[in-house]
Amino acid sequence: MPVNTEAYHSIKEQLQEKNVQLVAVSKTKPNEDIEALYALGQRNFGENYVQELVDKAASLPSDIHWHFIGHLQSNKVKYIAPFVYLIHGVDSEKLLAEINKQAIKQNKMIACLLQVHIATEETKFGFDATSLNEFIASGRLSNYSNIVVKGLMGMASFTEDKTMVENEFSTLKTIYDQTATALNNVNFDTLSMGMSGDYALAIEKGSNLVRIGSLLFGARN
Ligand SMILES: *Cc1c(COP(=O)(O)O)cnc(C)c1O
Repeated sequence: MPVNTEAYHSIKEQLQEKNVQLVAVSKTKPNEDIEALYALGQRNFGENYVQELVDKAASLPSDIHWHFIGHLQSNKVKYIAPFVYLIHGVDSEKLLAEINKQAIKQNKMIACLLQVHIATEETKFGFDATSLNEFIASGRLSNYSNIVVKGLMGMASFTEDKTMVENEFSTLKTIYDQTATALNNVNFDTLSMGMSGDYALAIEKGSNLVRIGSLLFGARN
């Protein structure tokens, strides 16, 4: 299935007006599809699987910004640490510690988003609001010298219930604002929320980075 360039242009236009960044989620899609959007100027791509990301990064242009948006296992951080641009799904302090360790080995800083659990489903990962607040207030973040916490990421429930999704996004925006105040750090400026089905709502609720896959690349198997 070819890439939907019409959708790409229309989404880009909507986002530009509102200063929202687009991560094109290319998981399971072939390199040619990424190249097609790259040719239109897209540089930020998102992947969920470590091996797939490593393979794609090795064979695609080096100026692509690779976003890891899936659930990251600690023992796999080392494979993406050398080149990853932003890790969205940091859902535990243990993972943060491992990313920091690999960043030190690479002699670089690694940018991360802390994932917050806002959905009702138990399958979605992330800090809950209380443990996030506790973590930020503890000051332990300063133990991780080679991590830059750029912001927060969350996923709404998979539901037709628009009000529920809206409430979950509003909750995340509130947590984001509180965290920004508590951290008082200029690097903290990114709220990653919204996907193909709910990105417009997410932007209304304060998202400034959306992760869009199927609208651009077609449905996944
Ligand atoms: C797959 C995925 C997306 C993109 O989903 P679409 O509905 O295809 O836009 C966004 N974020 C995360 C975390 C994903 O896993």
